[in-house]
Amino acid sequence: MIKILNFIDGQFQEPVENQWLDNVSPASGEIYSQSPNSTASDIELAYQAAAKAFPAWSQTDINQRARVLSKIANLLEEGLEKFARAESKDNGKPINLAKTVDIPRAASNFRFFAQAITQFSSESHESVGQNAINYTLRKPLGVVACISPWNLPLYLFTWKIAPALAAGNCVIAKPSEVTPMTAFLLGEICQEAGLPKGVLNIVHGEGPVTGQALIEHADIKAISFTGGTATGVHIAKLAGAHLKKVSLELGGKNPNIIFADCDYEKMLDTTMRSSFANQGQICLCGSRILVEESIYEKFKTDFIARTKSLVIAHPDNEDADLGAIVSHAHMQKILSYIDLAKQGQGKILCGGKQVAIEGYENGYYLEPTVIEIDSIDCQLNQEEIFGPVVTIMPFSTEAEALQIANSTAYGLSASVWTNDLKRTMKFTQELQAGIVWVNTWMLRDLRTPFGGLKASGIGREGGLEALRFFTETKNVCIQY
Ligand code: NDP
Repeated sequence: MIKILNFIDGQFQEPVENQWLDNVSPASGEIYSQSPNSTASDIELAYQAAAKAFPAWSQTDINQRARVLSKIANLLEEGLEKFARAESKDNGKPINLAKTVDIPRAASNFRFFAQAITQFSSESHESVGQNAINYTLRKPLGVVACISPWNLPLYLFTWKIAPALAAGNCVIAKPSEVTPMTAFLLGEICQEAGLPKGVLNIVHGEGPVTGQALIEHADIKAISFTGGTATGVHIAKLAGAHLKKVSLELGGKNPNIIFADCDYEKMLDTTMRSSFANQGQICLCGSRILVEESIYEKFKTDFIARTKSLVIAHPDNEDADLGAIVSHAHMQKILSYIDLAKQGQGKILCGGKQVAIEGYENGYYLEPTVIEIDSIDCQLNQEEIFGPVVTIMPFSTEAEALQIANSTAYGLSASVWTNDLKRTMKFTQELQAGIVWVNTWMLRDLRTPFGGLKASGIGREGGLEALRFFTETKNVCIQY
């Protein structure tokens, strides 16, 4: 059995209190590794290591910092196969997805911020008439916390760590205990790349135990968190009491709004991905599909046919469209929403059942599920399911589509399918979402601000926004 260890002060270490968690492969239901359930003692060790490393790392020439981060990116690319296999086994996602999205993106995160830090400049303001010049310094914060979820494990873990390190901070990072494996393997790469010890510390364990100890640590300067809204609110309260900086990327219940004038085939292909990629476990998934009534019946027929043709298989199968759901508990949560449809909140048009894969009968597989709803107030339309379940409903006017789209507590992303310019402008202005895609979905440019409104969070990641979050601003005014 593989034993995952904490990575503290450049060394792999067992947890101080010797508490361990079972790590399950969702594709088979088998326990295949153990990871530490770290406590405040481990967080303190990580903090001491990070605090010791901070003076030198924060003063390291940015070209040298960039070189080390680029080396990590190179090593991730060289290790693509190994990392993709590990991610797929730990999370249940199809191996092809891990190979083409998760691991390449993790490498891109390091490469992007290695380059971005060399372009990060500060501003100066000449106060004409007052013989004064102002310039702005942006200094690293110190020791910061990065906490990430299980759905895109290494992808989201590195999306936080890379800008934090690039900006000169030292990091204590906690991956989800549900998917600890690739974060563990990242430690080896950091050693090989020559990242100085203590600069990045990776501590494993449960959210309410390890995560809680991390966010409670008095000397952590900032918390960058991606996860559920309830956890985000809890973190914001604690951070508020200590005036720590927080960036919260939380849940979504994103509308996918389809007008009759769209490029139909492209929309249908993309809607298959935005509905079911990664078993629907992406915060950006378009889980609420709204279709203009003139094409509603045609869309329904085509979408159901395409959904029924998706291949649900063991994640190692190169043909799998959907692999396994991340955990037994999460599968039960998704099934409980499907039960709401059976109890009258909606009509199940296809899917809705567990799937037994031959040889892996204890794995957590679910059919992709389409539910037709007629009320926007139901839980199926309001709450994040975070699985391969979408709702569909027709709309008749632009005003109605907008009203439905904005009718949830969330505001992460939205997609609009139309070729009408006026309508495009109206929707991009009026949709309550941090990210609006027109005639596409999840097209990402790492320079752009990423994050949500309302219950989807506060703060923005990506590009210079991330570097600003991980630095403290100081203005200097000199009169001459
Ligand atoms: P959780 O909020 O349960 O967990 C996220 C992370 O926080 C995990 O590492 C978890 O640890 C940790 N955590 C849990 N409780 C605490 C605590 N008290 N103190 C500190 N850390 C804690 O979310 P899930 O892992 O279930 O992730 C799914 C959620 O993430 C969905 O709601 C999804 O929408 C959201 N998400 C948002 C994205 C965005 O960018 N907006 C992107 C991807 C996902 P552990 O798992 O070990 O318990």
